[in-house]
Amino acid sequence: MISDSIISLGYIVAAVLFIIGLKMLSRQQTARTGNKISAFGMLLAVVATLLSQEMDYTYIILGLVVGGVIGVVAAVRVAMTSMPEMVALFNGFGGAASLLVAWSEYEKGRWAWLHDAPALVTVVGIFLAVLIGGVTFTGSLIAYGKLAEKLAGRPLLFPGQRTVNAVVMLAAIACGVMFMLSPASTHIVFLVLVGLSLVFGIVMAMPIGGADMPVVIALLNSCSGLAACAAGFVINNTVLVVAGSLVGASGLVLTSIMCKAMNRSLGNVLFGGFGVSAGKGAAVEGEVKPIDAESAYYILEAARSVVIVPGYGMAVAQAQHAVHQLAQLLEENGADVNFGIHPVAGRMPGHMNVLLAEANVPYEQLMEMDDANGQMDNTDVAIVIGANDVVNPAAREQEDSPIYGMPIINVDHANTVFVLKRSMASGFAGIDNPLFYKDNTRMLFGDAKASIEALISEFKQS
Ligand code: NDP
Repeated sequence: MISDSIISLGYIVAAVLFIIGLKMLSRQQTARTGNKISAFGMLLAVVATLLSQEMDYTYIILGLVVGGVIGVVAAVRVAMTSMPEMVALFNGFGGAASLLVAWSEYEKGRWAWLHDAPALVTVVGIFLAVLIGGVTFTGSLIAYGKLAEKLAGRPLLFPGQRTVNAVVMLAAIACGVMFMLSPASTHIVFLVLVGLSLVFGIVMAMPIGGADMPVVIALLNSCSGLAACAAGFVINNTVLVVAGSLVGASGLVLTSIMCKAMNRSLGNVLFGGFGVSAGKGAAVEGEVKPIDAESAYYILEAARSVVIVPGYGMAVAQAQHAVHQLAQLLEENGADVNFGIHPVAGRMPGHMNVLLAEANVPYEQLMEMDDANGQMDNTDVAIVIGANDVVNPAAREQEDSPIYGMPIINVDHANTVFVLKRSMASGFAGIDNPLFYKDNTRMLFGDAKASIEALISEFKQS
């Protein structure tokens, strides 16, 4: 067996690697390396834990093989558009793991606790790991079901729902308090606590619309970290406490960034039932002006500054490689080309950045929303590729719009706007978009990838 000080050193190095990796994840240029550094830190932590005490490795190796195969297959096969579903499932299993660790520590300790009371930190840790882990598990399964359209995506609301949720939550807390006051003699109460935690995850997630699920997933991600942190206190494992707190804190920051970018409070996301009563906004007046690829090419050919604004439709069409090719052709033609990235474009944070990085678009060309807006007045052509809500001027102009106040990329300030989408259908928020009717907007209808390829072939023919 390895000495305790070497194990502790391994944990400290692992914790430092987590922090360095997390810091590097905040910039696109360093994100891949940051991911590898964090993964190496986790490997170190796992190895240190396995060497810290005598144990039977049979089940661990079995679990490693089964889990490893599932992880590799999922990571290789999952489509970019299904990434939020995969994250939801992984969060859920993280929560379930913390619940099971706490539960097994409880079953292991409860007879001994009849004579020898456990430390307060242990019982509080067990309670929190079970409560948060259980809620994370079932809440994430519901989130997965809604995103994967295996469950109806609309918010499930019924009269008295908040009361039901509050009663379930209060009952779980009451069971937790009874358990913590007398941990050795409350077996049934403990099992009820487990059940109520699982039920609360379901009743909490059902009223939230499928479209709001990415925010909920960020929140549940944070919860899975907090549950792991609590489990770390239960089994006295420092590195689990550190890793759990980092996940908990970063998940909360991410949740807050997403809420701000949508101009909605977390309360509105969790309890607002967004999508049920949201109106379509004021009636939009004006005429839609379609354009074909050939005419669009002539305008692009003369453009000296172009800003490309991608959205969810680019992910659906998997158009990122074609988009990069078009950007290169525009540059060769003498235009200054940049990409305007809205923080909630797509269906998960960083969705557009990941797709464009996959297509090798240089990081220097990616502009944040404020920078893109700063140069929109001097932009010849803004090309909107499968984006809708994030460029909807109603957020700026119509006080009665459900998205009023949401920061947007002001593509309508460019000289000309091309909108690439298949139809006049609305986006995630389900509302009309006055941009499509503006004098300087031209609609290039069709699948985004097909439309971009048509523009590329116009450039190549010239
Ligand atoms: P939207 O959902 O507003 O619009 C996407 C548009 O893409 C649709 O109008 C659709 O129109 C079009 N589209 C779909 N498939 C294709 C295709 N194959 N080719 C061309 N166009 C296509 O997307 P945005 O990115 O503009 O906005 C994201 C929305 O998601 C925001 O409202 C945001 O608040 C929300 N959201 C985002 C989160 C995030 O983390 N990113 C989290 C939670 C919510 P059509 O069907 O006519 O083609």
